[in-house]
This record gives sequence, structure tokens and C-alpha cells, in this order.
Amino acid sequence: MSATERAIEQVERHAAHNYHPLPVVIAAADGAWVTDVEGGRHLDCLAAYSAVNFGHSNPRLVEVAKAQLDRVTLTSRAFHSAGIGPFVEALAQLCGKEMVLPMNTGAEAVESGIKVARRWGYLVKGVPADRAEIIVAHGNFHGRTTTIISFSDDPDAREGFGPFTPGFVLVPHGDAAALEAAITPNTVAVLLEPIQGEAGIHVPSPDYLREVRRITRERGVLFIADEIQSGLGRTGETFACDLWGVVPDVYLLGKALGGGIVPVSAVVADAEVLGVLTPGSHGSTFGGNPLAAAVGLEVVRMLEEGTFQERARRLGHRLHDELAGLVGHGVTEVRGAGLWAGIDIDPAVGSARDVCLRLLRGGAGLTSVLAKDTHGQTVRLAPPLVVTEDEIDLVVAAFRAAVTGV
Ligand code: PLP
Repeated sequence: MSATERAIEQVERHAAHNYHPLPVVIAAADGAWVTDVEGGRHLDCLAAYSAVNFGHSNPRLVEVAKAQLDRVTLTSRAFHSAGIGPFVEALAQLCGKEMVLPMNTGAEAVESGIKVARRWGYLVKGVPADRAEIIVAHGNFHGRTTTIISFSDDPDAREGFGPFTPGFVLVPHGDAAALEAAITPNTVAVLLEPIQGEAGIHVPSPDYLREVRRITRERGVLFIADEIQSGLGRTGETFACDLWGVVPDVYLLGKALGGGIVPVSAVVADAEVLGVLTPGSHGSTFGGNPLAAAVGLEVVRMLEEGTFQERARRLGHRLHDELAGLVGHGVTEVRGAGLWAGIDIDPAVGSARDVCLRLLRGGAGLTSVLAKDTHGQTVRLAPPLVVTEDEIDLVVAAFRAAVTGV
């Protein structure tokens, strides 16, 4: 049995089967590349669902994390710790907001955002008790908790997990008129991914989020942008909302905020909104811990410099220009922004998973590329933002071969 087979067999036997991983076992990683247990090298084009935007083992982030490991890692919020203040101040400033609620995973940030919006609805807007409604979009993906899957329309995510949490209204993504029509006096918030990631990198028309911003402002409804996957440089901007010059009331952040090292997430908003939380009303043992705060602060410092955003913009143009040439050659559509692409595979050449397996296998003169399928026919590419122009060319050459055999 090879080292790969042994590792996969162990996981199959003892880990819950809630994922269907590609057959590669990663032992080490650096920048945009990973090394498997047999010594094989692969170009990572998933970047842990964009949690590794700044590259594997980013030297600045590893240095900060190592130094913090020697100081203090966990205090709980029962006490102040030295690192949390600088982190929340810097993150609030990056977002142009006043306050930050630090949490850990993306789903926790979404849950926390929902709680904050509901409480804001009761305390500030004057919605009658327990009547708050939140508008969400068809095709959404915001995480896996019971409340979050309550407003998913993906049967795989919901089946067998009811009863579900009420208080959510689904409207088509990209349809501002439908969203406006769904607003009632009890609507407290609209919760949207600016670009729907898990759905297949669906970018709305340029007017959509501007319209959502106008409508929510006019109707006294919070606009919550889930930038957990789309934010922090991925699209060539700090936030995907920046692509359209839109500023939401609440940012939900996660994934890359932890630099690929620790789970760090946050709800970021002005005091009028986050100020509704009072001691005891919400909390997290690990949220805002010193290690998370140290890494999160360095992530914010890197984003303040703008170089990752600029890289994602420039290299993203190259990626999308080259991928556009594949449409009609085993590819039916390419969508995305910056270093983020959703590529629909012509069923005649196989499923998206078939293409991902071919990309992994590589072949003569081809780079092995790690990519992930979603919803049957879509492959998404999201390499770490440290990827080079030459590596983008390698990815596209591998992709061309995987869909055309040439
Ligand atoms: N929101 C969005 C837009 C996401 O893409 C994800 C994860 O893919 C989440 C929330 C949930 O994040 P986590 O897996 O850290 O709970």
C-alpha cells in the first residue's frame, strides 16, 4: 500500500464522510505550491477556499504567529489581552467602520451577524418581538449551522437536518426589484454574498449591489455583505463590494483573515449596529484570542499596503483573458473577478470532478493543478494571490489539456 493509499484508507475509516476529497494527500506547502506524501508537487488553485489568499506559510504571517506562540495564545475575553485592541482598531479602519466583533469561523460570523441584525431590528428599528425577517438570495452559501442551512436552497445541505429556523425570505440573486418587493416593515436586513462563490462564482450585473444599497438605505434595512470568501484581496479589491463602489452596513469576514494559520472571523459595523450587543448577550471562548489577533492584525497590515489586491487584479486579467479562449473548447462559460474563476465544463468532456481529477493527474509536460468542482459542471479556480504570471500560464495550459486533450 502506498503512503497515499494508507492515508486515504485511514480517513475513510475514521473520519466522517462529510467531504469527498480528491485523491491527494498533502504533507507540506509553500506559497502557491503543495507537496504530497510521495513528494509530488501540485499548484494549489483552491487556496483552502480562499483562506490561503496570502500563500501557504506566508513568511510575515508565520513569523508573527511564531512570536505570539511564545508569548500568550489564549486568555478568553474574561480579561483583556494586549493584542486584541490593535487588531480590532486596525480592522475597523480597514473597513471604514467603528466596531468589530471577533469570532472564529465564517459560519460563526454569519450567525453573529444574524443575531446582531435581529437585535438591531428590535432595539433600533422597533420591529415587534420575534418578528424580524432577513432577506437572502437563492443559491446562497453562508455556512453549515442549523440556522444558516435553514435559508439554503441546496437540498444536499438541508436534507435530514430540520426543523429549520424561521425568519428568512429567499429572493432571486441579482434581481433588485424582487428584493425590494420582499421588504416588509419587519425586514431587518438583507444578507448577500456580493459574488456567489460556492454557487459557481456568479457575478451580478454592475447595477445590482448599487441598487441593493439604495433600496436598503431608503427602506431602513441593514445591508450585510458576506465577504468571507469574496473579500480580502481575492477579486482585486479589498472587498468585492468595492468593485461597484458599494459600502454595506455590515461586513462579515473570515477565511483569509486568519492568514491560513488560525480560524479568524469578524462582524464589522458601526456602533449604531454592533452597539446592540451587551455583556452576556453573545460570546466565544476563542474569539479574538491573542494568536488570532496577532495574525489578523498582520493580515490587515498587508491589505493596507494594497499589493495583494493589485496582484489579484493584474494576474486576474491574465487568467480571465486566457480562460476566455477556452470557451467553445470544452468550456461553455467563464465567470469571475480577480484571481477567482468559475468555469462551466461542457458535459461532452465530462463532469467538473472528472476535469479536476485530470488536472490533478497532470501528464507529460503538464503541471499538476489542484482545483475543486462545484454543482456538477463548474470548476472554480482561486490560486493564492502570490501566484506568478508564469504559473497562471501553467494552470491554463493544464486546463486546456484537461478539457480538450491537447
Ligand atoms: N460564507 C461564505 C460566503 C463562504 O464561502 C463560507 C465558506 O465557504 C462561509 C460563509 C462559511 O465559512 P466557514 O467554513 O469558515 O464556517
